[in-house]
Amino acid sequence: MEWMATATLSEFRNEPCADFSVPVNRQAMEAVLQKVRSQFGHEYQLRIAGDWIATGDKLISVNPSNPQEIVGLHHKATPELANRAVESAYAAFPQWSRTPAGERVRLVLEAARILRARKLEFDAWLVYEAGKTWVEAEADVAEAIDFCEYYAREMVRLSAPQPVVQLPGEHDEMIYIPLGVGVVIPPWNFPLAILAGMAAATLVTGNTAVIKPSSETPTVAAKFAEVLLDAGFPESCFTLLTGSGSAVGDVLVEHPKTRFIAFTGSRDVGLRINELAARHRPGQIWIKRVIAEMGGKDAIVVDANADVDKAVDGVLASAFGYQGQKCSACSRAIVDGKVYDQFVEKLSAKAKNIKVGPSDDPSNYMGPVISAGAQKTILQYIETGKREGRLAAGGDAAPEGGYFIPPTIIADVEPSARIFQEEIFGPVLAVTKARDFEHALALANDSQYGLTGAVFSNDPEHLRQAKESFHVGNLYFNRKCTGAMVGAHPFGGFNMSGTDSKAGGPDYLLLFLQAKSVAAKVG
Ligand code: NAP
Repeated sequence: MEWMATATLSEFRNEPCADFSVPVNRQAMEAVLQKVRSQFGHEYQLRIAGDWIATGDKLISVNPSNPQEIVGLHHKATPELANRAVESAYAAFPQWSRTPAGERVRLVLEAARILRARKLEFDAWLVYEAGKTWVEAEADVAEAIDFCEYYAREMVRLSAPQPVVQLPGEHDEMIYIPLGVGVVIPPWNFPLAILAGMAAATLVTGNTAVIKPSSETPTVAAKFAEVLLDAGFPESCFTLLTGSGSAVGDVLVEHPKTRFIAFTGSRDVGLRINELAARHRPGQIWIKRVIAEMGGKDAIVVDANADVDKAVDGVLASAFGYQGQKCSACSRAIVDGKVYDQFVEKLSAKAKNIKVGPSDDPSNYMGPVISAGAQKTILQYIETGKREGRLAAGGDAAPEGGYFIPPTIIADVEPSARIFQEEIFGPVLAVTKARDFEHALALANDSQYGLTGAVFSNDPEHLRQAKESFHVGNLYFNRKCTGAMVGAHPFGGFNMSGTDSKAGGPDYLLLFLQAKSVAAKVG
């Protein structure tokens, strides 16, 4: 029983995050930031199975805190190379899928160990390429480690004998087997954690992977590919296909040998993938599976009897942490009329004190948004917001030099407003007044999305009501709505937020597997 070799793994524990207020941690991070900076401008080839490929057409990845700085140059894939990537992953599948589960688990645990050893270095790449503050970067790396550790243990569980009824005169079994070639498409906002999570789930279950990273954060992806190779994953079992999603995405999704797509990103790209994957292609002998984790328009409800100061802090952290660029970020605060004015006043005062600037300076609470394009879109939404409500904070000048936007609060927003309904993905919060708690819940549910939500209330009956009817995949009481922890808060949303999958939970790996029943006559 090869699964028994790994069955003695310790219980899963979340990776702790470094405390950068401790001088020794702070000095260590400063030294690593300098070291990583000295590697700026390096050129990275893409990699199909064991072949490194230079196409000459390069993607330029810049530091959003200072776009003059080139973080990395990455050769872009062509549609032909995308085809080749799927073909080679298909060719590698028979061997990788038969690699014992215990060995795959060992490799994923080794990847976790290497990530842990290189944690500060990954923090620094995230600071420079994704514009994360130190604290946010550290949380991203810790989550990547958690995904590897958690899915390794899950694979041990799923490769053990499954409990099926034994019929008289038979030996009955159910075993989980992999699916085939998985196309892994992560976003830029958790460029390590989400990429590592979807790739680890794909590989540990015995599938081969074509990883197409976001064009905003290809250097973090290239560094993660190094980790997989250093961990000992065979070169043929995964491909790192850097390049534009609009140029190669359809080819990867439509290829008849693609078996499933693990996607995290926006609603529109997710819907397109789902539609294209559903169409049968010549030579295709399966129905493709799509695991899609998409956008959000997450609300925090503040009840009349809530502790307003705690609610203000929870909303601030959820709305402006990583510049509001989390799918779980709070973009709507829905507040009972009895505490509304007090809440808006306190919230705006605190938001105005938030320090915005380059993310490598740890005194800044907020860094830049990811790109010039994102900055432009968010500023347009702020202009729309000024017409749709009352500007209570932000909306004015931000530090120059990077893609900075101050934390912006628009109060008195009606539910029909665009800024109440559309995902902005930046530091812009709409605040809306509710008549009572029931009205607040109805407003919170007035959305096509259903990802995260929170309620600040001291009324147990109201919390019960919210548990029953606040329709989100991740609901939190009396705390922020961001910061889901692997294992404790399986993550993923309802409705237009995706296919209801739960990353970091006990159901997740089943999405990457299929079950085979084997019954043998005995005696
Ligand atoms: P995005 O624009 O949808 O891009 C996501 C990924 O899809 C990128 O790698 C992108 O590549 C690729 N892509 C683009 N067009 C494609 C196509 N036609 N076919 C296949 N792939 C294609 O999203 P994003 O801006 O990176 O991320 C932000 C979004 O992700 C937000 O909506 C956020 O809510 C969502 N998100 C959801 C979760 C969740 O768990 N539900 C978690 C994080 C983020 P290029 O970069 O080359 O275009």
